[in-house]
Amino acid sequence: MITVKTYPELSTKYHETSCVAGIRLDQGTPQHVRLFPVPFRSLSEESQFAKYSIVEVDVRRHHGDRRPESWRPNLHTLKVIERLGTADGWHERFSHVRPLVSPSLCSIKRDQELRGTSLGVFRPAEFTGFRFAPAEPWPASKAALADQLDLLAQDLRQLEWVPLEFRYSFRCADQECGGHDMGLRDWAVRRIGGP
Ligand SMILES: [Zn+2]
Repeated sequence: MITVKTYPELSTKYHETSCVAGIRLDQGTPQHVRLFPVPFRSLSEESQFAKYSIVEVDVRRHHGDRRPESWRPNLHTLKVIERLGTADGWHERFSHVRPLVSPSLCSIKRDQELRGTSLGVFRPAEFTGFRFAPAEPWPASKAALADQLDLLAQDLRQLEWVPLEFRYSFRCADQECGGHDMGLRDWAVRRIGGP
């Protein structure tokens, strides 16, 4: 079940690629999964999954990525099976998430140190801020890469630099929590009204 799609990154190795996170449902108990690279905009229309879709895809290990959740998808095998709806307070979607909810972000970070895990789900205890600020412009090398990829993939609109950076600050439920400040990289961030 797909839960996160990041805004695409440009790289000389992968051209344009997103990182996709989700919950793996084929292992008995739900498990975190990261799929990378996913050149989402280059996928065929029927493969362009929405969030909270269940997809089926063959995967293999990454050589250079030791995080236990990371898999390299063979996107030619990708099938979108269904999209879970929001009925009953997101009941169906949450039924897959619930077994993975950690007590706090601090505990997720402790697990990361112990076991190298890199994905987690938690409920913040208290939000202390959400802000957006002007983002650093792409360095010249990346802007040049965007132009170059534009020539290679002429049927795609050029990837736009996002002029804002979004950040949350919050405390988690851990007794020792000193507070967190995290960037938000989700592709679905939208500006609704306001300046
Ligand atoms: Zn914390």
